[in-house]
Amino acid sequence: MALTTLQETDKTRLDFEVTGDEGVFRPSGVLDEDVNLGVLLPAIQGTNPPLKKLTIDLGHVTRMNSCGIREWILTIDKITSAVPCVFENLNELFVEQATMIPVMFGKQKPRIGSFQLPYHCGNCNLNIQKTLTLADLASEQGPSRIPSYPCPKCAKPLGFDWLEDEYLAFIDSIS
Ligand SMILES: [Zn+2]
Repeated sequence: MALTTLQETDKTRLDFEVTGDEGVFRPSGVLDEDVNLGVLLPAIQGTNPPLKKLTIDLGHVTRMNSCGIREWILTIDKITSAVPCVFENLNELFVEQATMIPVMFGKQKPRIGSFQLPYHCGNCNLNIQKTLTLADLASEQGPSRIPSYPCPKCAKPLGFDWLEDEYLAFIDSIS
């Protein structure tokens, strides 16, 4: 395994990890006007052996602004054309953008390995992230649904802490 940090500032870090012919791209922190996602394409094209798969782990992105989103869209278009990509740990920041921007994960239908869903217990004032796959979100009959879980502290049902309809519309659009 070889880990390269492509960019590191006080608010953003871009890590690229290669094992054999598979890579992982892991952006952390803030994607804004100071992020330099342009370093990723040369990095994935410079691997030996050539990459056969790139996992893009989005679980550590905490904030994006319009400049960062623009840079993201330009980059992801080139990356998804260059190598098969799987997106993991998609959080509500990306789902929110994807409901407005159809090319948020490239021009083709994206492969999404997992989502991070935000839940909240009003009783304990507790925020909980659940990592779920498309299979977890599928129901046996009919459209996808957001599963419900008990609070690990008080056992009352957790509330889904985001826009359920938008999440489900996005999930149905990529399933
Ligand atoms: Zn609780």
